[in-house]
Amino acid sequence: MCGIVGYVGSEAALGVLVDGLHRLEYRGYDSAGVAVVGDGAIEIEKCAGKVGDLASRVDDSGIAARAATLGIGHTRWATHGAPTGINAHPHSDCTGRIAIVHNGIIENHRSLAAALRERGHDLKSATDSELLAHLLEEGLSEGRSLSEAALEVLGEVEGSVAMVTIDRDDPGRLVAVRRDSPLLVGIGSDSAVVASDIPAILEHTRRVVVMSDGQVAEVGPGEITVFASDGAKVAVEPKEINWDLQSPEKAGYPDFMLKEIHEQPSAIRDTIRGRFEDGKLRLDEVHGDEGFLRNINKIVVVACGTSFHAGMVAKYAIEHWARIPVEIDLASEFRYRDPVLDDKALVVAVSQSGETADTVAACRYAKSLGARVVAVCNVVDSSMAREADAVLYTRAGPEVGVAATKTFTAQMAAMELLALYLAQVRESLSSHEIGEIATELGRIPGLVDANLESWSEQAKRASQSVGRSKDFFFLGRGVGYPVAMEGALKLKEISYLHAEGYAAGEMKHGPIALVEPGVVVVVIATSGHVKAKVLSNMQEMKARGATVLVIANDGDDAAIEEADFAFTVPEVSEMLSPLIDVVPCQLFAYEIALSRGLDVDKPRNLAKTVTVE
Ligand code: GLU
Repeated sequence: MCGIVGYVGSEAALGVLVDGLHRLEYRGYDSAGVAVVGDGAIEIEKCAGKVGDLASRVDDSGIAARAATLGIGHTRWATHGAPTGINAHPHSDCTGRIAIVHNGIIENHRSLAAALRERGHDLKSATDSELLAHLLEEGLSEGRSLSEAALEVLGEVEGSVAMVTIDRDDPGRLVAVRRDSPLLVGIGSDSAVVASDIPAILEHTRRVVVMSDGQVAEVGPGEITVFASDGAKVAVEPKEINWDLQSPEKAGYPDFMLKEIHEQPSAIRDTIRGRFEDGKLRLDEVHGDEGFLRNINKIVVVACGTSFHAGMVAKYAIEHWARIPVEIDLASEFRYRDPVLDDKALVVAVSQSGETADTVAACRYAKSLGARVVAVCNVVDSSMAREADAVLYTRAGPEVGVAATKTFTAQMAAMELLALYLAQVRESLSSHEIGEIATELGRIPGLVDANLESWSEQAKRASQSVGRSKDFFFLGRGVGYPVAMEGALKLKEISYLHAEGYAAGEMKHGPIALVEPGVVVVVIATSGHVKAKVLSNMQEMKARGATVLVIANDGDDAAIEEADFAFTVPEVSEMLSPLIDVVPCQLFAYEIALSRGLDVDKPRNLAKTVTVE
């Protein structure tokens, strides 16, 4: 996974490329590079490290063609070959005529590389991506145009490809091709920007063409021509993107993560907006095939990482409200475990980006088994949105911090709506009950807003007292369990501390052996039918010397006084409580990461969108 940007127009390309890469850095950041078409030659500057390192090299050195108006750039998240300067993109062919950037994985790279070497090509890097440049070189030498050669290469390689390429001999355009990795083309009046994601485009234009799988595009200043895989021209109509230009920026916060934690009230509000009206849930996107929804025999939620935890909450909510059996599976396991599905099953696939390779593949697999798929994702027209039979968009806006925060709460809100919608269709709840829950859901954003400052203060104090510990457990039961899992994941992701999320009742079956003085246990003990049991589990931890932090309702003195430290949250109904309870956990992880001097937006070894298996 990575960020790709390409520019053609009247401005100096270098500035546009480096700026675009900065905005895409959340997609991958182990190395970066740019290539521009200068005076009869392609110049490439690339290095290991972040986009900032590349920017200084571009400023200090290298590229003579500072006024070049055509170029490509890449910020990499290595899959094949270490993150070194040589392996950084762009890659060139043997003749130096073309340069390419690639997002994805070429699965048949070994056999292709062997064949290319046999045919005399000099492969310089250890990447799978470089092969694309040499395969294009062969197509060009046989007299094909760059876009014809690109389509042909797409047929030769197996795996996922978003590729943008430039040709020294044709300095007026870029050629872009895609399959299974995202690629968008922004069309300005006298320029065009090709990119993996919207933030790199917005500064230049809001008119965007979303390329489809198998297509190739010839992109010139202010123009695009698209061809399908059979070479036939395809008519495309740019869409108007109405995201706020400011939204990819930090808006005064020290980092994106804190900004996005603070954006949760509006993310939840926007996600539920217009979906409960006149006493009824209206999820038009779910296509209203109510006959099918009435007869579902089971639901399978598939997701990875944080989205999986949102899916766990969905399981509790759907089973409780709509009385439909729900399984949940990690997308990477689901497709290889021979699941039992038929045309009465509904698969709910959850992914922030809608590009998560495992989840997209799970959607396809579920469809091949005859199930219907609803995608829950945050990015309009993402691969998953297009694969699925229906899409329920979270409306959290772009999330830049690698550790998901606002998209998690938006996913939970969306799936709570889905659960209520199913209950409405199947009449497992009365319209009065549904109305009460939906109204309470509408109050959650205000409650989060009202408490963010005090949770920040509590998180600062808690991190000062336990931030040097090395072992953390997060415990919950019922819907507190996914909150515990997510709290532990946040701490692992951004603080690099060992943290385990566990079902509180399960500790006694093994992990309690690890509990001793110095271990920190965070207990989710807000109101619900299992609260008394959670509090007993908390005592078991205390009795073994753990330092205990509790997330408890305002005024719950019994819970607060038993703990060493308390986060206090307003009381809401049990099924909605994860929307509130997770926020102090996010802030706790955030404060600990800051106290350890870590980069909360770009944790090591992680990338925002995991477009590889
Ligand atoms: N597979 C390619 C590489 O390792 C591209 C990875 C990416 O998408 O950043 O270079």
